[in-house]
Amino acid sequence: PLTTADPIDEHRICVCVRKRPLNKKETQMKDLDVITIPSKDVVMVHEPKQKVDLTRYLENQTFRFDYAFDDSAPNEMVYRFTARPLVETIFERGMATCFAYGQTGSGKTHTMGGDFSGKNQDCSKGIYALAGSRSFLNFICNILLEYYSGGLEIRFGSFIQNLRVFDLLNRKTKLRVLEDGKQQVQVVGLQEREVKCVEDVLKLIDIGNSCRTSGQTSANAHSSRSHAVFQIILRRKGKLHGKFSLIDLAGNERGADTSSADRQTRLEGAEINKSLLALKECIRALGRNKPHTPFRASKLTQVLRDSFIGENSRTCMIATISPGMASCENTLNTLRYANRVK
Ligand code: ADP
Ligand code: MG
Repeated sequence: PLTTADPIDEHRICVCVRKRPLNKKETQMKDLDVITIPSKDVVMVHEPKQKVDLTRYLENQTFRFDYAFDDSAPNEMVYRFTARPLVETIFERGMATCFAYGQTGSGKTHTMGGDFSGKNQDCSKGIYALAGSRSFLNFICNILLEYYSGGLEIRFGSFIQNLRVFDLLNRKTKLRVLEDGKQQVQVVGLQEREVKCVEDVLKLIDIGNSCRTSGQTSANAHSSRSHAVFQIILRRKGKLHGKFSLIDLAGNERGADTSSADRQTRLEGAEINKSLLALKECIRALGRNKPHTPFRASKLTQVLRDSFIGENSRTCMIATISPGMASCENTLNTLRYANRVK
């Protein structure tokens, strides 16, 4: 039967889930792995429940996505199915976005920025770098193809955003967000660095990563409270040709913030909640080809406005989840959110 629901443009949005392995601490605490990925697009949560007679049973919940990645899937694989198909878009005058969404500690930064498990973060294996490298191959092909018509310039920019916006490629300079006469929001003064080879890309990712975590006692304490945006920007004679925004979102767990004694913490927490809700609505609108995108509802969606409008905009969300029973509630929230995006 026909339904009244708007059809989804599958081509425009891709929603995936990535499960990380149980970590050392969880294993030591004898936390249980309650997530299974029985097929390439299904996630099951086995939530232990207690009956009245105190016997335990498992309540299974099943979710279906475009792709579900098990804890054995390396970054390259996640990249191949998520960001990689979007790289072409920006060479075709389009806008692409790729979001990592999930609880703090579930693997967002690991996925986007690269592996932290060694002494230093290996950024060459993160989606930022992988997307950057592929852009390069494409870029070179484009130059060859368009040899006579003036080629594209490839640039990188990076900032973090909560109540304020800070430039990650320029020593965390505070940036102004202005609205022009056409109600378009612009981040003013963001440094865009031109890159000429893959090594330049990796260097900038390193600068951005270390700038993000500088002055903080723990990388997570800091990064869980702001959205980190990394952009690959193509320009032709100064004019925007295409843009790929890769976003390591603030952690989606916000329980403690609302009751915090610290005003700044409460305000930041409220902004994060608001932006994640607005983001969901904007992606939904994009997927349903709605003429009006509710990007005004938060600062994040205002800053990313041009990524949600236009004929040739595509997006992908990677919802990262922790496997442990202790994280079950947050995991279910993440899965429900990701489910609603589409
Ligand atoms: P988040 O950015 O969501 O707060 P992180 O990316 O910092 O989380 O991940 C937390 C920890 O888990 C890090 O030590 C990271 O190396 C590890 N980790 C995350 N995802 C994976 C994965 N898929 N495989 C192996 N280790 C992972
Ligand atoms: Mg992080």
